[in-house]
Amino acid sequence: MMVHSHILSDFTERQQEYAGYLLERLGHEKGKATDEYLGVLKDRAYQYKSAGHRMNIPEDKQEYYTLTEDGVWVSNDYSMVSYLHDEVNIKYYKKYNLKSNLKGYITATDLANYVFCPIGFSIGRTIEGIKLLSGETGTRFHNLNILPNWSRHLTQGESSNTSKSEDLIEDKNRFFFDDIKKSVLTYSGHQDNSKKYFVNKDKNFVGQPDYVFKNRLGENYIVEEKFIQERTGRSDVFYKNHKIQLLSYIAYLKELNASYGYLVYWRYENDYGDKSIVDCSVLKIELNEVTSAWIDNVLSAVDRFRESGSHSVEVEYLNPRKCGTCVHSMHCGHKNQKYGSVSYPYSKEYHKLKYVEFPKALKK
Ligand code: SF4
Repeated sequence: MMVHSHILSDFTERQQEYAGYLLERLGHEKGKATDEYLGVLKDRAYQYKSAGHRMNIPEDKQEYYTLTEDGVWVSNDYSMVSYLHDEVNIKYYKKYNLKSNLKGYITATDLANYVFCPIGFSIGRTIEGIKLLSGETGTRFHNLNILPNWSRHLTQGESSNTSKSEDLIEDKNRFFFDDIKKSVLTYSGHQDNSKKYFVNKDKNFVGQPDYVFKNRLGENYIVEEKFIQERTGRSDVFYKNHKIQLLSYIAYLKELNASYGYLVYWRYENDYGDKSIVDCSVLKIELNEVTSAWIDNVLSAVDRFRESGSHSVEVEYLNPRKCGTCVHSMHCGHKNQKYGSVSYPYSKEYHKLKYVEFPKALKK
């Protein structure tokens, strides 16, 4: 009996049958957890379309694909079923590259990954990730240098490249722009000639913040920006993985000597491919006793996991909806809730697929 889910009901019968077969191979079972996982994946599967890239597409099929800057073809119509198909292929053929630097510096991204899910941390350190569309959008927005342009606009009256910039200043974020207005930008991590990494040898930590500013009192602060599609999430919620990333820069990049930082969520609207910023939410984070203890605890936990090579997994706490949003999902063998621990580095054993006979109806 293949796995069935009402979330698949928009697909044809054959597609539903095929999806059920793939889900079963991946170890999922019929029920609430799979429904919840698919319910989120349904709207996000297209983010992973580069996973199913093809090197060559016959000329008569090219209208269904787009040739990317990397010289590979990706499907224009990438669905949840395409995602499941690619996940099975990736796991079956081990279609991924392994990273070599397992023992090197801990990065801010590692800490953020660990806080999101320790399994994702192990995957992220072991396997080269898949390029997500949201990552490409983020890079494009970063390269627009919105904040440096705003800073010049606010401090020197230069015109900003974000035409509606003033409209984004509201009561909820005014404290941030007031600070920017009286500050000088001293470091931008997105410029070609800027220093790529700052190192803390004592903590075995390395990081590259987005921006460093100096305020009118001569204090340094860090700004970490994220670009989020508007329809996802509430504007007053800041994710703890993003908070820990910013906090790690403040706490561990001693060279920057920053005592606080801002986490900035730029929300954008996607109007038929034309993306524009429509909202800005900001959280100020300061280094104090509580936040220092938090970041130190996370770093110690990551160190322990790397040293011991094993971490327990409380299966009942795995959240299928979270798995549907996870950047490591396609490489993750744990989201089917079958393993009570996870190794470091991430073992290929977790990619074992269940043997399931190919549905007869699909052979016709
Ligand atoms: S898919 Fe789920 S279990 Fe796997 S790393 Fe992501 S959040 Fe963790």
